[in-house]
Amino acid sequence: MIRPNFHGGPLVAHCDACPASLETRVKVFGAALAIIGREGWKAVHCGAGHGWCHFCPTCTEEKAWEDPANRLVAPGSARP
Ligand SMILES: [Zn+2]
Repeated sequence: MIRPNFHGGPLVAHCDACPASLETRVKVFGAALAIIGREGWKAVHCGAGHGWCHFCPTCTEEKAWEDPANRLVAPGSARP
């Protein structure tokens, strides 16, 4: 999940499978995606009800999205 820390603030990526987060320091979604991609994060569409989820480098390595029990630390946070 990528969202601002406060309304209108810089975007912060939160891993959808663990408590990891990454401050992008930018406010443009596309730019934030590029930054977290460079840091080894991955966006995976987790199906209806979960939508796009974002995973930190550790969870990307473990392919956390393939484990239904593991990818839902932040249920309901993602848009379909
Ligand atoms: Zn993670």
